Amino acid sequence: MVDFQLTPRQMELRDIAKRFATEVMIPAAEVADRIEDPEASFNWEVIREGSKRGLRTLTVPREYGGEGADVLSCAIVGETLAYGDLGLAVAFDQTWKIMTSIANMANDEQKNRWLPKIMDDDECILATAWTEPMAGSDNVWPNQNPGAGIQSYAEKKGDRWVLNGTKRYISNGGLAKVYQIAARTDKDNPMMNSLTAFLVPSDAKGFEVTEVWDKLGQRCVQNGTLEFHDVEVPEEDQIGEVGQALPALANLFIRHGSNIQAGATVLGVAQRAYDLSLQYGHARIQGSVPLLGHQLQQIRLARMAMKIEASRSYLWRTAWSTQLEEMDRKNAMLSKVFASESAVQVCQEAMEFWGAAGYMRKNPIEKLMRDALSFLHSDGTNDVLTLKAAGFLEDPPQVDDLVYSPRVTEAAAGR
Ligand SMILES: Cc1cc2nc3c(=O)[nH]c(=O)nc-3n(C[C@H](O)[C@H](O)[C@H](O)COP(=O)(O)OP(=O)(O)OC[C@H]3O[C@@H](n4cnc5c(N)ncnc54)[C@H](O)[C@@H]3O)c2cc1C
Repeated sequence: MVDFQLTPRQMELRDIAKRFATEVMIPAAEVADRIEDPEASFNWEVIREGSKRGLRTLTVPREYGGEGADVLSCAIVGETLAYGDLGLAVAFDQTWKIMTSIANMANDEQKNRWLPKIMDDDECILATAWTEPMAGSDNVWPNQNPGAGIQSYAEKKGDRWVLNGTKRYISNGGLAKVYQIAARTDKDNPMMNSLTAFLVPSDAKGFEVTEVWDKLGQRCVQNGTLEFHDVEVPEEDQIGEVGQALPALANLFIRHGSNIQAGATVLGVAQRAYDLSLQYGHARIQGSVPLLGHQLQQIRLARMAMKIEASRSYLWRTAWSTQLEEMDRKNAMLSKVFASESAVQVCQEAMEFWGAAGYMRKNPIEKLMRDALSFLHSDGTNDVLTLKAAGFLEDPPQVDDLVYSPRVTEAAAGR
């Protein structure tokens, strides 16, 4: 049975997140979005306050003191936080993602060592680093060439790994206290069986953030370039099996909602664009009536609502399905693609609805457009995610299948 009635706890979490988004995040983001220096815009007070309200540690298992939230609950809270600000929501969302992978991939000793540290520090946010200057989509859609994809390399020396390489565009880069790093531990094989995951603290010797990128949107969070020069990682901080990080994390990111989370957060941006437009449409008078007195503009708002509701339904159903053995994995990617494309379309409609006022930086719509654009690329480009999803298309119906149509075979044969 599919039941879209939220649990009392999900409703409670959504209310906590909504209050936090409107009371804390929106005012903070209005200031931070305008700060020119990308290294000066992050507002730590938002993280500290979010920690107090239990939002930072949403996915830490309950036995370690967290919320133990499932994928659907994270989608609901992620959307609501992004309603406040997408960049700040990403700071939380990335942290949830890595906490989930620690909870699932780490052994008990590692969990007992890392999770309490993360729980106890109100400023502890996390980052995951895959993308490199010469390895972007090749990490999302890996191929057989050993020279394609991640080239950061970790070499085993005694009881330590020695890590070298460069990562870029990393969300929470320069802010995170712990980084989940994927590096090659074998240069001669394809990425699929030569990547290993490590946890590296931000104060590790030889680790440096060399650039904080100046971005069009998501200006309230940092995206950094990370450099590793002979960084020594103790054997105990290798997470999962040697060479098996890619299949383990790829599975985790689908089942534990990386793409779904990405879609859910950008949906929050679309919802905000809609709500602001609804308010504007009642207040702004042209043609002697409010904008929403014109049927053409009513239709515009209705189409925005349709895209938002369709995105939410797709994301929630996919989030719900992650618990099923027979989950249709392509929906994890396609629901992100659909939600992010819809969010950009909704923001564009909002810009047209607001007229010139939408284009002016004094007003809130242009920021939403800049923010929404980021998820056409972040968490895998929509092109590459769609390409991957196409790999999960079903086999065609066979002659003895109920849905088989002989006419299709005839038509394909030109008859
Ligand atoms: C705001 C933001 C936050 C990010 N945060 C993180 C993070 O926290 N951690 C992290 O590791 N990375 C992060 N990234 C990086 C992101 O995952 C990459 O940008 C993405 O995977 C694409 O890589 P690329 O930018 O190098 O593009 P490229 O891979 O160079 O792609 C360029 C173009 O070619 C197309 N293309 C590529 N390969 C193929 C193919 N095989 N077939 C057809 N078309 C193809 C792409 O669709 C795209 O249109 C972030 C990016 C952004 C914008």
